Amino acid sequence: MTAPVVTRFAPSPTGFLHIGGGRTALFNWLYARKHGGRMLLRIEDTDRARSTAEAIDAILDGLKWLGISWDDDVVYQFSRVARHREIAEQLLAEGKAYRCYATSEELSEMREKARAEGRAKLYDGRWRDRDASEAPPDVKPTIRLKAPLTGETVIEDQVQGRIVWQNENLDDLVLLRGDGTPTYMLAVVVDDHDMGVTHIIRGDDHLINAARQKQIYDTLGWALPTMAHIPLIHGPDGSKLSKRHGALGVDAYRAMGYLPAALRNYLVRLGWSHGDQEIFSTQEMIDAFDLPAIGRSAARFDFAKLENL
Ligand code: GLU
Repeated sequence: MTAPVVTRFAPSPTGFLHIGGGRTALFNWLYARKHGGRMLLRIEDTDRARSTAEAIDAILDGLKWLGISWDDDVVYQFSRVARHREIAEQLLAEGKAYRCYATSEELSEMREKARAEGRAKLYDGRWRDRDASEAPPDVKPTIRLKAPLTGETVIEDQVQGRIVWQNENLDDLVLLRGDGTPTYMLAVVVDDHDMGVTHIIRGDDHLINAARQKQIYDTLGWALPTMAHIPLIHGPDGSKLSKRHGALGVDAYRAMGYLPAALRNYLVRLGWSHGDQEIFSTQEMIDAFDLPAIGRSAARFDFAKLENL
């Protein structure tokens, strides 16, 4: 028997609910509803300097207004920091991660050297097999994953197809910073695993992170959730979506008097289509939605079309 579907929406609360975020949440919600599963909401607030209570309210309000409901309690990532550290320490104890004492000067030298030599890998692995007794006294070490040096990291993405990375191009990524805070990479993997997430549907700006996350899953012996990276939304002229294409916050459309059902209908069709049907009831959306029908090319956000709804 296959596990019941669990999706998640995992915004960083640094501003309003972006229409791109609204679309990601909608796709996750539809997929979960279609398969009789659950959609969870995780607020990724580990970056304390950039996360705000106003942004959290704006995200929750925006989702509610769009009619996107989540299951269970909201998970706040920051509250799980002890668990993230525990996993980093576990990998360290198992010899699958190591303490890196490279100074920031050393790291920038390494970066320059790699750039000059045209190498994708920036960190040269100098602390991989070195003993902590050699450590300089005043450097707070990071914890890095001992990533595989050879072979490939492969993801079968539901939208992008099979993606292959050469491990020789992927750095030993930092799991825990010198101040003991987890990186996004570690926190996301541990949280998705602990929350029982089966499907990760998110923007394709996270594709390169997927390779790194896969390496963490593999090292931990955890199964990778099914992944679907959806093309970002562009403006009608094909360039990256920006303010000059129209308002970018869900709240702005609400303030302009759009009905939530109209915006939802518009968002679902940004990158996903179902024949030439243009208007969907909620139930029709749920019934028709599927991942393979999401196109691989960037969706175009055309403000003029939204006005016609
Ligand atoms: N918090 C990330 C963001 O807002 C998303 C993380 C993810 O979906 O894995 O871009």
